[in-house]
Amino acid sequence: SRVGPEGKKAMEVLPPLDHSSIDYPPFRKCFYEEHPEVTGMDWEEMLRYREEELQVQVEGRESCRPIVSFKHATGFSETLLREIVKRGFEAPTPIQAQALPLALAGRDVLGIAQTGSGKTLAFVWPAIVHLMDQAHIKRGDGPIVLILAPTRELASQIYVEATKFSKPHSAKVAAIFGGAGKWEQTKLLKEGVEILVATPGRLLELLKTKATNLKRCTLLVLDEADRMFDLGFEAQLHSVLGQIRPDRQTLLFSATFKRKVEKLANEVLRDPVRVVCGKAGQANEDVKQEVVVLPNDEAKYQWLAHRLPGLVREGKVLVFVSSKQGCEELAGRLMMLLQGDARASCLPPWKVEALHGDKDQHERSLIMRRFKQQQQQQQGEGGKE
Ligand code: ADP
Ligand code: MG
Repeated sequence: SRVGPEGKKAMEVLPPLDHSSIDYPPFRKCFYEEHPEVTGMDWEEMLRYREEELQVQVEGRESCRPIVSFKHATGFSETLLREIVKRGFEAPTPIQAQALPLALAGRDVLGIAQTGSGKTLAFVWPAIVHLMDQAHIKRGDGPIVLILAPTRELASQIYVEATKFSKPHSAKVAAIFGGAGKWEQTKLLKEGVEILVATPGRLLELLKTKATNLKRCTLLVLDEADRMFDLGFEAQLHSVLGQIRPDRQTLLFSATFKRKVEKLANEVLRDPVRVVCGKAGQANEDVKQEVVVLPNDEAKYQWLAHRLPGLVREGKVLVFVSSKQGCEELAGRLMMLLQGDARASCLPPWKVEALHGDKDQHERSLIMRRFKQQQQQQQGEGGKE
């Protein structure tokens, strides 16, 4: 795995600020009002649009309906809408359709969608709306919007996108990352920046030298959160987070949803809405998947019978079949395999159980418990899961 230029450095962290001792001015978070066309969609139709067309799953208290067109993003200014049309964008991508209304409504959002699905603008556009509502940056002020990204390539990409859409609003954008001149970055920050795109390590360095501060930061975006962990930015990230007022709005985007991302989301988001794009049950990256296509049932059985001894040595095996009868038949055959096989004495011992809906609940629970217990024993003996 690649390590960013700042990834390896052991970095002392900044202690979190005592936010209760700081007098933060109030700020506006909500710029969204549902468009009548969105309200007018009947419930069934809305669900069909969300689940089938957008293939988006939404979880969280009082979510927003997805929007269909950019004109439904009611917080967007005329200038912003014109710029979007000028860039040739016709309609929001699925993640944008669901995340834009939420972000504009001031909600914390956890957005999971594949690479290339348009996540950048799903946070850049609301960020522009958010900052345009606030007083101009004065010399010495820190950024209003902070976007953290794990690598300098990514930070530059976000910077380019953000600049395109900020220009017509004359909002100042800057990007800071390791490997580039600290002196110039310091100068830039001191002049005042409204949207700051940064890698956590470099930002932390510049916070320590007081090149900037995060007292005015009211919108925080964490992009590619999964890669932040891959690159070892966890401590830096938390250190930066401790510098930002707790009542900020936070948007967190990731292409994958690993346990660490979920944990981070729980720590940094308040009452969030989770938006997951793509077909239900997309592969978890922690699970290695291999697909083998075989011509018929007999070939499948032969494949399995041949590999089972090896698999059983490694751990446990779950076999899914499509019918209750198929389940019983396969279980029977696998039991026979062990008994009838001449090599049986050199095979690892295995037990076979069949589990399906024709068994009563009590029996099913017993089978499940036996399956789990065996696992604990194996683990206890130093066996693999
Ligand atoms: P992600 O961050 O999800 O990997 P990006 O934000 O980099 O994806 O977007 C991928 C590409 O899609 C970019 O070139 C971007 O300009 C384009 N794009 C974003 N939103 C739209 C849209 N609504 N319609 C068409 N293209 C879009
Ligand atoms: Mg991206």
